[in-house]
Amino acid sequence: MEADSIQTYIQRAEVLLKEYKYESALETAEAALQNALYHNDNSNLGYISNILAKIYELNEEDTKAITEYKRGITYASTVKDIGLKSDLYNNLANLIIKKPEHRGEGVKFYIDAYQLAERLEDTARMVKPLLNLGDYYISKDLYLESYEHLKVAKELINEHSPILYQTKLNILLGKYFLSIRRFERSNKYIDKGISMALSQSKNKANSTELLYTYYWELASAYKAKSDLYSKQNEFEQAYNYLLEYQSNFTRASKLKKEIELQRATIQFEVGQFKKQIKQNEVEKDERAEEEIKWHISIILGVVIILISLAFLINAYKNNTQKKKLNKDLIEKNAELKAAKETAEQVSTLKSQFISTVSHELRTPLYGVIGLTSLLMEHPEEKKRYEYLESLKFSGDYLLALINDVLQLSKIETNEVTLEKVSFDLRTLIEGISNSLQSKQKHNNNNLHIQIDPAITSMLYGDSIRLSQILINLVGNSLKFTKNGNIWIKVDQLASSDHDCKLRFVIKDDGIGIPKDKQKNIFENFAQVKNGTQEFEGTGLGLAIVKKLIHLHNSEIEIESEEGKGAEFTFTIVYELAKKKGSSDTYDEDIVQEEDLSIGTTTFNILIVDDNKINQIVTQNILKKKEYTCDVASNGSDAIDLVRVNDYDLILMDINMPEMNGLDATKVIRTFNPYIPIIALTAVEEGEVRDQALSVGMNDVIIKPYDTQQFFQTILKNISHSQVKKVR
Ligand code: ADP
Repeated sequence: MEADSIQTYIQRAEVLLKEYKYESALETAEAALQNALYHNDNSNLGYISNILAKIYELNEEDTKAITEYKRGITYASTVKDIGLKSDLYNNLANLIIKKPEHRGEGVKFYIDAYQLAERLEDTARMVKPLLNLGDYYISKDLYLESYEHLKVAKELINEHSPILYQTKLNILLGKYFLSIRRFERSNKYIDKGISMALSQSKNKANSTELLYTYYWELASAYKAKSDLYSKQNEFEQAYNYLLEYQSNFTRASKLKKEIELQRATIQFEVGQFKKQIKQNEVEKDERAEEEIKWHISIILGVVIILISLAFLINAYKNNTQKKKLNKDLIEKNAELKAAKETAEQVSTLKSQFISTVSHELRTPLYGVIGLTSLLMEHPEEKKRYEYLESLKFSGDYLLALINDVLQLSKIETNEVTLEKVSFDLRTLIEGISNSLQSKQKHNNNNLHIQIDPAITSMLYGDSIRLSQILINLVGNSLKFTKNGNIWIKVDQLASSDHDCKLRFVIKDDGIGIPKDKQKNIFENFAQVKNGTQEFEGTGLGLAIVKKLIHLHNSEIEIESEEGKGAEFTFTIVYELAKKKGSSDTYDEDIVQEEDLSIGTTTFNILIVDDNKINQIVTQNILKKKEYTCDVASNGSDAIDLVRVNDYDLILMDINMPEMNGLDATKVIRTFNPYIPIIALTAVEEGEVRDQALSVGMNDVIIKPYDTQQFFQTILKNISHSQVKKVR
């Protein structure tokens, strides 16, 4: 804003001020002030201060007005604007002279204003403070002081001076001359003043404020005139002028009221405006508040979204992790499943392998052992007896090893289940003792059997597994004891109508087992190396024993000290076999010796086997008992022979070329239901027994077999068939 426009603002502010539009005037003046400050326009700053001060003054903010006048004076001094400075002093004096405490100061400022105007030789400016001082002193009844200044004013004022000045001067002079009782002169001046004021009060061009001033001057003049007449004792005149005074005073007051009303209206509007502004501000505040709320909502929203996002990301991560874990688990599962399947396959393959290998090994072994046995029986071969004995030992060992491996493999793959038959414990143990007699003699041991007399009834359980356990344990004792004693002790710990709890103790006074080795001897292939001593064995016996006892839901315990012998203990609960004659009898399983002697002791047997060596071995074994036999190399030959000959029993191999033993049996059964047919095979018993029985075979003998057991089975089956035939 250039200086020109600053001045325009100042002028506009002055106009607005005259219209009592204080707010707008103030705003405009302040706008001018800011710009003047910005442009360092000190000359205009003084004028702005003057306006601001007037605005404050009219708004009855005197302190602010005084400060602003004084500031204006400083600006005016700086720029040496004497005329402005004079005006400012005059205005400041007008304001403060009303206050008794500032009277002196006010007078001084008027004089300053006058002197400054004087320096400029600006008569109009000089008159203002002079008239003001005159007026002031008259109001204070200080007529001489008043005249001092009015005198000077009188000289300066002429017919060209502003009418208000002329009017004021005349009235003031009239008052002065009245005070010194120069009535005529006083009257002259007052009348002059009245006529001027009257004419101006009718001038419509004058503003309300100016009209008010003139009416006020009129009232004051009429009052002076009334005083004048009253002092001259012309009371009627005095009264008339007093009435004039009153009416003009009323007019002036009316105008003042009008002015104040106008001011008040504007103030009211301003108030409204302020209110509006306030309202706006409130609304603004509300909007701001709303905005803040909105911002907070947005921030909250963003925070919630962020938190949700964080949750989502977390959940996503978790999910991904879970998925990954799941995937890993599925993969691991699949791997495990595959591994399990492989393991199962391996296990099946292992079983199949063991079964096949053992079959393949057992078949030739059957020949080796069988032939060796036969050779040993011929007296002319006695010179080679030692070699044959070694041969037989090796064969036996190999067979035991194969049987043990096979047995363990079966237990480990859960293929062994306990069978239940009725048996007599004493007979079983004596049998074992008898079968181990050669071993007893070999190491010069004494075997003591102590069976609790409380055990009276037959037992019902797996006698074969019990035999296996006892043979292994007693066998070991006989092996590891020399010139000593072996005890087989059975005690009944508890019994009821249905079962009894038996404790088996196999004790010896042999070499014993060192404490640190005792834990391991039940593991596969575990053997304690005893210095130079060499003991035969596979290292599998105790492992099998332990597993068989486990099958009976029991444990084996060992008590031993090196050099002092060993003691193995285990308990088994056996059901009691029901007595003969009871409705559900098991006695069928018990083969009595006398049953076997029914009829002739020499029988005619048909051997069906494709293996020539096996044919010879079996033939020779049977011939030893003076049995007669025929031989067929396959199933169909056998059928032909059975059709034409009368055989007491058929020993039927299963795996044969052309027609196998199972198919041949089926055909034979179509025309001969009675003839006992026993499967004679190297295949593991469990695998063929069911098959064999289902096609009509009567029993199964596994090669190589124990000769005694072999004949027992033959005899049992022949006697059974004869019983059936008789019926
Ligand atoms: P082995 O076929 O070698 O006898 P076992 O599993 O039956 O295998 O026995 C394992 C080992 O335990 C034997 O080699 C032997 O060292 C020891 N042992 C077993 N029974 C006895 C016993 N009654 N006296 C001393 N040592 C024994």
